[in-house]
Amino acid sequence: MKGDADMGFSRGPKEPVKEVETNVWVCTNDDCNGWMRESYSFEEDPKCPFCKSSMKQEMRVLPELK
Ligand SMILES: [Zn+2]
Repeated sequence: MKGDADMGFSRGPKEPVKEVETNVWVCTNDDCNGWMRESYSFEEDPKCPFCKSSMKQEMRVLPELK
């Protein structure tokens, strides 16, 4: 065990990972399932990193990032 065991909330019953609604960019190419979290993109109109198609914004429920 190393590192993260002493952050206070690691004791007690295990909590499931909290899921939150998250803005993501989703590839518009039906043959591609590329997507990324909006907070990972610095572009206003990003291109898919896999196929270079344009991307559209969508809301997804994803595990919360700490
Ligand atoms: Zn794509």
